[in-house]
Amino acid sequence: MKHDERFIRLETRNEEGTERAGEVIAEICRRPVCIALEGDLGAGKTRFARGLARGLGIPETEIASPTFVVHVEHFGTRGTLSHLDAYRLEGTEELEAIGFDELLADRGRVVAIEWASKITEALPEDRIDVRIDHRGEHLRGLTVADHRNDEDARRRLEAALEARCEGRSFTVDADRHCPACGGRVEIERSRPFCSPRCRLADLEKWFGGGYAISRPIELDDELMD
Ligand code: ADP
Ligand code: MG
Repeated sequence: MKHDERFIRLETRNEEGTERAGEVIAEICRRPVCIALEGDLGAGKTRFARGLARGLGIPETEIASPTFVVHVEHFGTRGTLSHLDAYRLEGTEELEAIGFDELLADRGRVVAIEWASKITEALPEDRIDVRIDHRGEHLRGLTVADHRNDEDARRRLEAALEARCEGRSFTVDADRHCPACGGRVEIERSRPFCSPRCRLADLEKWFGGGYAISRPIELDDELMD
């Protein structure tokens, strides 16, 4: 992971929950944005892509697994979805053939890739990784790691997922190690607030201009603290 190692963990109890996570991401993220999907067969990658479609105003029924076609493009009322499946790709030449780099640069486009780890070297660093883990018949764990180089955008996405999908944000503390296994310790990230709800309230205040500076900053201000 890049930047500070931070991620959001969600749990979904049915496919609607997984679709909602996709919908929120499509609604909130500035485009172009690349979403790398990982998870075993049947984990819910295509369901998640349906959620992305919903967020872009594309009929969900259009979205099927693109395994045999590599790339399918959907045009919605709020944006375009490029839905790719890298499972059968042998190298990155086929990506060139579909104009992968142009898709990634297209404003207004969400590029979602199932089995993205097959083409890791072709993925932009500035992407969002979504891993879906099968935990039961209908239970899935989603891990969203936002690598976009934009702190505000990452905070907005965290807050939206926590609020609308009952997620929790964590950060991996590189300096703290588990005394039992030596692994790095994950810390829930509401701090300094008491809860995700208060963190969201604070964020809304920022967006609402509640913290705006009411007059120009003067030299004396720096001496005040
Ligand atoms: P993938 O694309 O990862 O192979 P799909 O999205 O095509 O997986 O299929 C996921 C299957 O799991 C669907 O049949 C869906 O109805 C079912 N399912 C059950 N619970 C969930 C859940 N919480 N999230 C996503 N899919 C779920
Ligand atoms: Mg699929």
